[in-house]
Amino acid sequence: MSQRAPFYLPSGLPTPLPEPDGLSAPYWGGLRENRLLVQRCAECRTWQFGAEWICHHCHALDPDWVEVEPRGRIFSWERVWHPSHTALTGYGPYLAVLVELPQAGAVRMIGNLLGDPMQEFAFGEEVVGQFEHHADGTIPFTLLHWKRIS
Ligand SMILES: [Zn+2]
Repeated sequence: MSQRAPFYLPSGLPTPLPEPDGLSAPYWGGLRENRLLVQRCAECRTWQFGAEWICHHCHALDPDWVEVEPRGRIFSWERVWHPSHTALTGYGPYLAVLVELPQAGAVRMIGNLLGDPMQEFAFGEEVVGQFEHHADGTIPFTLLHWKRIS
């Protein structure tokens, strides 16, 4: 297994950036402050993730960004063996999870599951978000990973 410290994934991966129009900038900015922000429509109160300029339910413009507790449950997962980027060559496996947030309309977001990449776990198992700050690069950013509670 490859070295996992100080970051879960190796260096050399593309820096996650908001789109040029800033659509997801509140999400990325929130992560930098250890806050998970998810969009919620001010008109119909529907949650959604990822970022959109309109509400998928009622088509109102500019959904609000609301802070939610970074806790969820594993909806799906994959143990990734194949390097999807050259920086990941020889690195795998690692665990990618689709986490559902019951407190935010059951929106789902992709992340990595921290810990042993060969660990066993169950669908529906509870996870808590872990903010991984990358402050040394030209453009600082933060990733949200997930860790099992049990
Ligand atoms: Zn709406």
